[in-house]
Amino acid sequence: MVDEPASSPATRAASRHTPVRVFDSIGRWVAVIACLLAAVCALAGLPAATTAATAVLGAVGTVVARVKVRATVRPHRSATALADEILAASSVQEMEAVVRTEIASWPKFALSWCALAPVVALDDSWGLPDQGAEELQGVLLSVELTELRPQFFALAAGEAVAFVCGAESEFVLVVASSRWISDDAVAAFGEIAAIAGVAARQLDLDAEVTARRAAARFEELVHFSSDAIFIVDAAGIIRYAAPSVTAVLGRLSVDVDGIPLTELVVPEHAPDVASFLANVQLLEARNSTSIALRFTRADGSLIDGELTGANLLDNRDVRGIVVTVRDVSSRVELEDQLRHQAFHDGLTGLANRALFRDRLERSMRVRRDPTDRAPAVVYIDLDDFKSINDSFGHLYGDQALRCVAERIVGCLRGADTPARLGGDEFAILLEELPDDVVLLELVQRVLDTVAAPMTLGTDTVVTISASAGVATCSDDVSSADDLLRRADIAMYRAKVRGKKQVAHYESAMHQVVHDRLELAAELDAAIRAHELEVHYQPIVDLTSTHIVGIEAFVRWPNTSRGPLRPPDFLDVAENTGLAVPLGAEVIRRALTDIASWRDVGIDGFVLSVNVSARQFLHDDFETMVCEELAAHDIDPSRLILEITENVLTVGGGVAEERLRSLTALGIGVALDDFGTGQSSLQTLQSLPVGQLKIDRSFVAPLRDGEGSVLAQGIVDLALLLGASAVAEGIEHPDELAALRALGCGLGQGNLFGAPSPASDMFPMLVAAKLGPVSDQATPTPS
Ligand code: C2E
Ligand code: MG
Ligand code: MG
Repeated sequence: MVDEPASSPATRAASRHTPVRVFDSIGRWVAVIACLLAAVCALAGLPAATTAATAVLGAVGTVVARVKVRATVRPHRSATALADEILAASSVQEMEAVVRTEIASWPKFALSWCALAPVVALDDSWGLPDQGAEELQGVLLSVELTELRPQFFALAAGEAVAFVCGAESEFVLVVASSRWISDDAVAAFGEIAAIAGVAARQLDLDAEVTARRAAARFEELVHFSSDAIFIVDAAGIIRYAAPSVTAVLGRLSVDVDGIPLTELVVPEHAPDVASFLANVQLLEARNSTSIALRFTRADGSLIDGELTGANLLDNRDVRGIVVTVRDVSSRVELEDQLRHQAFHDGLTGLANRALFRDRLERSMRVRRDPTDRAPAVVYIDLDDFKSINDSFGHLYGDQALRCVAERIVGCLRGADTPARLGGDEFAILLEELPDDVVLLELVQRVLDTVAAPMTLGTDTVVTISASAGVATCSDDVSSADDLLRRADIAMYRAKVRGKKQVAHYESAMHQVVHDRLELAAELDAAIRAHELEVHYQPIVDLTSTHIVGIEAFVRWPNTSRGPLRPPDFLDVAENTGLAVPLGAEVIRRALTDIASWRDVGIDGFVLSVNVSARQFLHDDFETMVCEELAAHDIDPSRLILEITENVLTVGGGVAEERLRSLTALGIGVALDDFGTGQSSLQTLQSLPVGQLKIDRSFVAPLRDGEGSVLAQGIVDLALLLGASAVAEGIEHPDELAALRALGCGLGQGNLFGAPSPASDMFPMLVAAKLGPVSDQATPTPS
């Protein structure tokens, strides 16, 4: 096996060759394995002066041959050249130096100085250890080397060099020594080479297995991914489609293979896909970008998808743009819902105030050309809507609001924006209407439609009217809020005129609203400062003219504006809620007065107090009345509350219930201004009303012998209801005479005494104890 020592290493190297078997490339994925194994050894018992070199070329399970040198070390210079150089060395140290230099020039190679048995010292300075090489080293060391050991033990340090080097799947084991290597040693090296080969192969296989596992895992991931995964080429053509495409887009991979990605989205989004792919190609590797698009599924249904792309065109394994499509329909739907909620009224689905303002602002902005028709805002407020809630509960109230919203929408064109601003307030933004006539016709149509009877629940039929204020955008309108405010002001004016009215904004309205707000503030302060006064007017038995009662009227001795009468401020009080504290103040003062008169023996008459609708329907009203009566120790039967028919219309069931409850306590109820309202006779018949007060508008004509039929009708009705008829505003003896002739029992008016302060009323009451009130009394203005 070992030839005679040659005269020179070079000639020996040239003459002894053993074919090298390079082991196969077995894996695409395997990392480059290269090892350098060096062992410095000496071959005991060999002629000391002989320089010999043995190259053992190994591969997986290959033979080892004793040769001078043979290698296929790529891409570096040939192993033969290397071997020659090694063999040319005159000492092992020199050989070592050659190997060191060689290793240093192998930047890509994984190198390891391998310690073979105890004779080999691993010297870090040699190696550029790499993981693969280390593993190989480990394998070599773990091999059962018992058989080989004697050979290695026979080697002495510093007399031979051994190394494994390799590139990709090839490697060689080179052992060089300055001494002759025995046949046994060569055989041992052969085995080492074989083991090294197996180890390398093992690593190779491990790498292959790992790679295959990774590939399988990758395939699984791709298969079961919830995203559709594509690889498209630079032109946007699908070159690969993962099976998950079916779940996301309802399409088979094969069906989309080769088609442009743009065909998967709705046509209007196709340009977006093209520009998206162009953008992705500008991205650096590992970066990605996304875009939201609508995709068409195979069955024609649409989904919202998030398209993400990463540029892997330069990746040799992919060579394409990796595109994923994630179905984000439910997320988009949720976002849409949240957006809708933020800008729409939850109850009616109409635009809310924020969206309405936004649309109005936009509409005002885009009207650049002054000849364009200006947008108009209609502010709508339901008349007496509170009574629906109070009478039928909030469920029916909500139903009514929804019905109103539907009716408003039904009157509009698609371009108009209806909104619910809150409570029972609606608004409409109207654009591009030809003129004011059409505008007002439309508003009237809305009001008529809203006012049609509607059924709540299964069989509760109600009628809800609405009032509207209209404001058109003009040059002096500063903002959307300004225009909306103008429409609100106009609506307020419409309300003052009555129900189901329309008012167009005029600049003078601003002043009116401003004045009313100022008045409200002053009234509030006056109530708190107890500046309001109460005047009293006697109510007499028309036959005897004896005082049977007194009616309290509020008076406001306003210092800056002059004394104010109820019609000057009651409307403001009613619309601002001040009617409640104002009314309570009047009742308290009047009860205080009659309690003080009673205490000095003046009683035997009833006190009538006017009560506004808002006050009467206020939750605490009944409690307040009872507490005041108790506080002044006045019997409820001495109190008559005067309400107008309006209270019954507005308050519905709540008003009726309250009436019954108050009369059950013994408190009397009078229907004031009877004949001017719209209460149904059927309702009246079922209510415990003690007095019908005949409005002065029915009394005055009697003076000239007119209108007796109407007055007679009311007197008769009172009789029918078991109530007393009380004529108001009697000024003239002829009126008195006519009323007496009609059978009207009670009356009041300047003829008997104008409303006057308590200080004037008291002596009148004292005198009345003595006899009837003179029907010739000179009328004094209150
Ligand atoms: P009303 O209750 O029908 O009162 C009759 C009105 O006629 C009173 O006007 C009274 O001063 C006036 N009057 C009395 N006799 C004559 C007369 O011979 N000739 C004429 N032309 N008028 C006469 P006033 O005080 O301005 O009150 C107006 C309305 O204001 C009252 O109508 C009542 O509805 C309401 N009101 C008055 N005081 C109060 C109050 O304290 N609370 C509430 N809620 N309303 C009140
Ligand atoms: Mg009255
Ligand atoms: Mg009246």
